Amino acid sequence: MSQGAHKVKVSEAEAMEVAEASREKQWRKPSFLRELFLGNFRLDLLHPYPLPPTEEEERPEFRAFYNAFEEFLRNEVDSVEIDHSGEYPDHVVDGLRKLGAFGMKIPKEYGGLGFSQLEYQRIMQLLGAVDGNLSALLSAHQSIGVPQPLKLFGSEALKKEYLPRCAAGEISAFALTESQVGSDPARLLTTAVQNEDGDYVLNGEKLWCTNGTIADLLVVMARDPETKKISAFVVEAAWEGVHVEHRCRFMGLRALANAVISFKDVKVPAGNLIGEEGKGLKIALTTLNDGRLSIPNGSVGAAKLCLEICRKWSSERVQWGKPVGKHEAIAHKIADMAAYTYAMESIADLATQMADSGRFDIRLEAAACKEWNTFRTWQIVDETMQIRGGRGYETERSLAARGEEPIGVERMMRDYRINKIFEGSTEIMHLFMAREAVDKHLEVAGSILDPRKSMEEKATDFVQKMVPFYATWYPSRWFGWGHYPRYQEFGDLAGHLRFAERNTRRLARQVFHGMVVYGPKLQNKQAFLFRLVDVANELFAMAASVSRAQALRQARRPEAEKAAELTDVFCRMARRRVRGLFRDLWSNDDVRKYQLALRVLDGRHVWMERGILNLDASAREIKPDRMLDRKPERAPVDRPVGTH
Ligand SMILES: Cc1cc2nc3c(=O)[nH]c(=O)nc-3n(C[C@H](O)[C@H](O)[C@H](O)COP(=O)(O)OP(=O)(O)OC[C@H]3O[C@@H](n4cnc5c(N)ncnc54)[C@H](O)[C@@H]3O)c2cc1C
Repeated sequence: MSQGAHKVKVSEAEAMEVAEASREKQWRKPSFLRELFLGNFRLDLLHPYPLPPTEEEERPEFRAFYNAFEEFLRNEVDSVEIDHSGEYPDHVVDGLRKLGAFGMKIPKEYGGLGFSQLEYQRIMQLLGAVDGNLSALLSAHQSIGVPQPLKLFGSEALKKEYLPRCAAGEISAFALTESQVGSDPARLLTTAVQNEDGDYVLNGEKLWCTNGTIADLLVVMARDPETKKISAFVVEAAWEGVHVEHRCRFMGLRALANAVISFKDVKVPAGNLIGEEGKGLKIALTTLNDGRLSIPNGSVGAAKLCLEICRKWSSERVQWGKPVGKHEAIAHKIADMAAYTYAMESIADLATQMADSGRFDIRLEAAACKEWNTFRTWQIVDETMQIRGGRGYETERSLAARGEEPIGVERMMRDYRINKIFEGSTEIMHLFMAREAVDKHLEVAGSILDPRKSMEEKATDFVQKMVPFYATWYPSRWFGWGHYPRYQEFGDLAGHLRFAERNTRRLARQVFHGMVVYGPKLQNKQAFLFRLVDVANELFAMAASVSRAQALRQARRPEAEKAAELTDVFCRMARRRVRGLFRDLWSNDDVRKYQLALRVLDGRHVWMERGILNLDASAREIKPDRMLDRKPERAPVDRPVGTH
């Protein structure tokens, strides 16, 4: 039976408890954004900006791979055909294997190429501008699939067994999602029961497992039905009881080998447990800290391609007497695009190199990059379609058939949209960051907000924790010098850093004011919290952009002044947004909108849905064969699952 038929009752409090239990509570290394939320503008954590090596400075081994990969994309990959056929051609997958692309992130001692994060992400950026399907294949395999959790948490035996296989091109996948488990893992139904031999027996069904129809190896999250704790296992797709039930198809990423996979009494050796029992969610989340960097880096590639498309098209296409790019409405879109692309690359390169250095805790920076870059790139893709006009909406095959250049903006739009949903949706990224924004306050004042604590406990904590902390912390969030001549060494960009510095303290004050005004209800004030997160992300992008421009100047790079120009316009736009976000914190329609939404959900405004073929009617009466009598489309495999 499909899990969709089950209903699990999980309260909001239980869901939060599970999320809280799997959250990394310690901050062992510094984080720019964590400090920002506390009101400390720690520019020293990202400045001097680590400029990535130029082509000439790169490791020759990596440059050789990059060139070969680029050549392979040009000569062997027909992305239009992959999109049209909805399949990965065998020669492409084999070609990637031969290049070693499935082992980019795997250390050399286990047969991989041993790339740094930055090197790997350079490939993801390149791929992001070419082919979303291949990006997903390689990224699901090594950003979140078997190699990443094994590298971080696997026993030596597991690494020796599986990493060389992954590097050689056995494809892996990550299986967390279930019918009822999207953003909320507390509802996980797949079970892992330990038998008398110490092995585990897996039962359940996973949904939307990318690479699932062609995977040889899977990371599967399953829970002990007694203790309810979730663990992570390496499961081989060829094992008895593992079945691909359905190949899922989507609006974009049409070749995605995405599956519903069932597990029926699958015997998993005890040694295939990754890390400790019960730590599965923590492993999944930690895997995503670094793994999450692939999407924002790929987004930079997509944004760069859009910029190129729009630059060329807007200068060539003449309407109303001049190139469309010289009409102000289009010109502004192009300016936004250039400035955002620069800022996106600044934060993605920064967070990637922070991950490489090992000196920082990058969980917030990676989440910020994922949220910010996917949102901005979606806007950029949308504006690119607008600028290309009708040609933006036309398929590449149709354009080519008419003799026009086949530029695939519509394919990009279809392929790109999912980036705001998977690997932590936009909303979940905001929640994740908001939780960390209030972390220190919960540590100091949590008991005051906790209805389960007695008056006595609250009073003790008030005297022993709150008074000593806030007596100095809060006043100091009002003072500090964020004006001239601070940051003078940054020349014409100094003013932007002063703004960021002043508004970092303002951000921390607003977090605190939110706690005071809303108390325990703050956790439900998502509009308020999300605005604070948005402010933090803007300040982060400003600081990274300015610091990068300065580093380029100091290195006397030819692009230094061009970078300063983009930085200036980006920061001006960011400052307007920050001011607007702060204004909206306390002057908004949040309550009215929430109440209206509740009434919509209650059915009060069903009258607004009249005049259309409503959902039930269209399913039953219009296309009963296609919509109700669903025959699952099987994976087109004439091979045992797990081989390719
Ligand atoms: C093409 C594709 C590939 C995928 N690949 C994989 C994979 O390889 N492995 C895997 O395990 N999963 C995979 N997924 C699953 C993906 O990660 C989930 O779709 C994602 O986690 C969101 O879950 P959901 O779709 O069930 O949305 P839901 O969790 O049902 O959420 C619905 C909406 O509500 C929002 N929302 C949810 N909770 C909250 C909250 N507390 N506050 C505010 N808003 C909230 C969400 O952001 C979303 O907008 C894939 C999905 C797709 C479509």
